[in-house]
Amino acid sequence: MPPKSFQAASPKLAVCGVGKRYRLNGGKTIDAVHDVSFDVMEGEICALLGPSGCGKSTVLRMVAGLEDPSSGAMFLDNAQIDGPHKSRGMVFQRYTSFDWMTVQKNVEYGMKINGVSKADRGAQADHFIQMIQLSKFKNAYPCQLSGGMQQRVAIARTLANGPSILLMDEPFGALDAETKWQMQELMISIVETSKVTVLIVTHDIEEAIFLADRIIFMSRHPGTVRENMVTEFKDGRRFSSHEEMIEAKGFHEIEKKIMHMMRDEMRNDREEALQEC
Ligand code: ADP
Repeated sequence: MPPKSFQAASPKLAVCGVGKRYRLNGGKTIDAVHDVSFDVMEGEICALLGPSGCGKSTVLRMVAGLEDPSSGAMFLDNAQIDGPHKSRGMVFQRYTSFDWMTVQKNVEYGMKINGVSKADRGAQADHFIQMIQLSKFKNAYPCQLSGGMQQRVAIARTLANGPSILLMDEPFGALDAETKWQMQELMISIVETSKVTVLIVTHDIEEAIFLADRIIFMSRHPGTVRENMVTEFKDGRRFSSHEEMIEAKGFHEIEKKIMHMMRDEMRNDREEALQEC
């Protein structure tokens, strides 16, 4: 967890009044999100949480520069976000490594493109492969690895490019329950070691509470920020296991609060749908 002094500093990422309007075939428009504002501080893990379709991925894609906002603006390290840049590394739900390259070559790839010398990229790759605990598999090909291991390679590849912020779109959504736990726990140790700032999209309440120092809870479609919550029950630290979190005082209260908000947003959605019928 970032030290208290970070709270007073300027944000690493500032999302300021951002909206996204899509134009559909036939000329109709749809607002995916409106007036979304929040900050992420240096070294924080921030989770974007909310009901399906509320616009979490849309916000993340805009931060990545893969989509332009229709209104508002976003700033990373005080510079306005305007298109993709290597300062924002993205990890998707489905692993995105190159099948024909070994783990080592996959992790080195971005550095090679950026002109890093062979010796330096070898050493850097070793460092990140160790961080994701795959040193024994560095000469394996992605198809020889399990889904969780492949996702670890995707994380190492992205971190090896030295991003200023790591963006993750439901990165563990396709994994089975116990692999997901292991990945979330590994993610904590990766962040503690690398000190990288993380913005992660999830619809999984427990995942958000376990990983995040800050949770941005979004209201139903078209989404906006309903609540910006610091996970205060963690008392300035992060948990290394789920059992530790579940036993911590205050965990069930925050879980219950978020469940109520989720239920509330789902109910409102259903009522609006019924009125439209
Ligand atoms: P979430 O990640 O919270 O599930 P999304 O960001 O994927 O939500 O989508 C938010 C809303 O924006 C949804 O109603 C979705 O249908 C709409 N949307 C997303 N992308 C597009 C697009 N390219 N064109 C039209 N509508 C879109």
